[in-house]
Amino acid sequence: MPQTTEPTATTWPEGVIARYLTVGGATVDISQKPNSTAATATCRGCTRDHYDTFTCKVTPETQRAMALIVGKWAQSHAETCRALPRPTA
Ligand SMILES: [Zn+2]
Repeated sequence: MPQTTEPTATTWPEGVIARYLTVGGATVDISQKPNSTAATATCRGCTRDHYDTFTCKVTPETQRAMALIVGKWAQSHAETCRALPRPTA
């Protein structure tokens, strides 16, 4: 059986706060900048993305809430996206 590497555990890009594994084997990365409620989900397989933000005070609670909202898009996209990630080598 071939060895598989697990990229999601140790090599998260900077700013990525959550990841969802797609059925195609890519990841949907959720990133959030410091001092911003905006969050972005980007699919590494098909490159579609989803952005959302609150126009309210930045607190850990509003940041977490926005990460969850964008995370819902990421989760439903991950369940249907079959695009393969580009090789990085
Ligand atoms: Zn995708």
